[in-house]
Amino acid sequence: MIIIMLGAPGTGKGTVATILQDKLNIKQVSTGDIFRKEIKEQTELGKLADSYISKGQLVPDDVTVNIVKERLEQDDVKNGIILDGFPRTIVQAQELDKILEKENKKVDLVINLTTPDEEIIERIVNRRVCSNPECKTIYNTLLNPPKIEGICDKCGSKLITRDDDNEETVKRRLKNYFELTSPLIEYYEKQGNIYTALVSKTINKLGKDVAEEIIENIRRSMN
Ligand code: AMP
Repeated sequence: MIIIMLGAPGTGKGTVATILQDKLNIKQVSTGDIFRKEIKEQTELGKLADSYISKGQLVPDDVTVNIVKERLEQDDVKNGIILDGFPRTIVQAQELDKILEKENKKVDLVINLTTPDEEIIERIVNRRVCSNPECKTIYNTLLNPPKIEGICDKCGSKLITRDDDNEETVKRRLKNYFELTSPLIEYYEKQGNIYTALVSKTINKLGKDVAEEIIENIRRSMN
């Protein structure tokens, strides 16, 4: 099964994708995580990616598509993948369709998360992530705090704030989302495989609630 997580930054894509990965046993692959690993290891790709990410810009399509293409060739995603943060442009979506078509595959489900604009910045600036690259659990100091401040509940590692989770960069990322990524909603509506869910504290619905809803729907459609 090929699942895509779509949505503005801070809507809960990573949270939902991680729960789906654990419950459905489908590997989550986040292009943002791949870039952050490369940046940490100071590879050439990392340096290039950082020059865009630190400014809140998208990494160029050709670079990003190549990374995903290579990742899709690996054995652990042969039976399914949850793409978290890819595609982010129409060009990326078209390239993904071409790659999948060659293997007689297609995007099965696009999960489109929406959150009221006024909540997004609050969600992002309060986001904390586990520094352990094997864990990467996501918290929110207001909505979903860890039991002990600054420490991951799951693995005990230190929680950190992502470098690009500052208000200035977030505004740029949001602008990019609305200009370059949101047209993908219509792209996938035409393919008829999109599921839109609202994530918002005003209706008391967090990423984990949406994930449960989706798992229920997938299980029902399989029976
Ligand atoms: P994320 O962890 O998904 O929020 O991604 C962090 C940053 O990595 C984004 O703000 C972009 O600069 C970059 N990035 C991640 N995925 C993509 C993509 N599909 N296309 C271009 N840039 C990306």
